[in-house]
Amino acid sequence: MTIHHFRRHNCRLCASTALSLVFQLKPTPLANAFVPRNMLGNVQSVFPLDIFLCNNCKHLQLLDVVDPRVLYEHYVYVSGTSPVFVEHFRQYAESMLARFAPQRDVLTVDIGSNDGTLLSFFKQSGCRVLGVDPAIEIARDAVTRGIPTLVDFFSPTLAEQIVEKHGTASVVTANNVFAHLDDLASFLRGIRTLIGRHGVFAFEVAYLRDMIENGLFDMFYHEHLDYHSVGPLVPFFASHGLELIDALRIDTHGGSLRGIVQAAGGPHQVSRSVAELVEDERRIGLDKAETYTDFASDIEKIGQELRLVLKKIKSEGKSVAGYGAPAKATTLMYHFGIGPDVVDYIIDDSPWKQSL
Ligand SMILES: [Zn+2]
Repeated sequence: MTIHHFRRHNCRLCASTALSLVFQLKPTPLANAFVPRNMLGNVQSVFPLDIFLCNNCKHLQLLDVVDPRVLYEHYVYVSGTSPVFVEHFRQYAESMLARFAPQRDVLTVDIGSNDGTLLSFFKQSGCRVLGVDPAIEIARDAVTRGIPTLVDFFSPTLAEQIVEKHGTASVVTANNVFAHLDDLASFLRGIRTLIGRHGVFAFEVAYLRDMIENGLFDMFYHEHLDYHSVGPLVPFFASHGLELIDALRIDTHGGSLRGIVQAAGGPHQVSRSVAELVEDERRIGLDKAETYTDFASDIEKIGQELRLVLKKIKSEGKSVAGYGAPAKATTLMYHFGIGPDVVDYIIDDSPWKQSL
């Protein structure tokens, strides 16, 4: 199968063509493209993991874009399989409703709704709910569990259809989706339509600051096109008639950011946390290319140490097992050159990954 991929030439947020390559990880196949035993002899396509900084708005991003239908139509990450996530979503739904929709009989839409875990908590609180997700099998499961789900990619046209049928949404959520889209501008046009004058859009993404401070280089893989920080997002939302009204640091995925957005001049005050985080990001140098070259050389050192430790264990005749097969394991194994000569097997509790 030929997988379509292209390299864009301008910044995904501000469209500037002034982009600097700040570091490179080894090219990998798609992170969740695990294959059955009988296909082990086939060579998988690999794609570059070259990381660019926009010299204009300082957004960090991949420019190589893999066809999203390949990545998401048969997606294997299921949020409901992680008890930590289930609890996270319960609290998230509660806090969003308390703050933005106390009357409860409102419409909430989750984009990238996966198995419907987050929406199930909105539903329990009395909301009308609607999921949008292109992953055919997982979305079908959500529908079976009583969460109405449109099996599609979110777009301005889909947003218009939803509004026509159900009215505007009071709360729209998108978790670990906002870093996955090549055409973010079109996504935001859809969001503006869907939230109308009074709704809010909340998104959660891995936070670049935590990735850099904690050395989470394995969060770089092809699903993640964008590595968001608050600074570049403020003007990006503004350029689409939207306003970032809050930015919170949360602890999922090793450190994430929850942003809350309304129509420009909408009903809610802008929290001081937005300006505070922008200031912190500048202080630690997220807008500087040197920050990322330093990060890359730290990663190389960690890789050398890890290889030494694993080789020593193997030389003592012991075996090495991997605990969990997340997408990030692919980045780690390819970048550090850790293959089947070192790791004997990997276990994972997701039936979507087992025996592959
Ligand atoms: Zn830019």
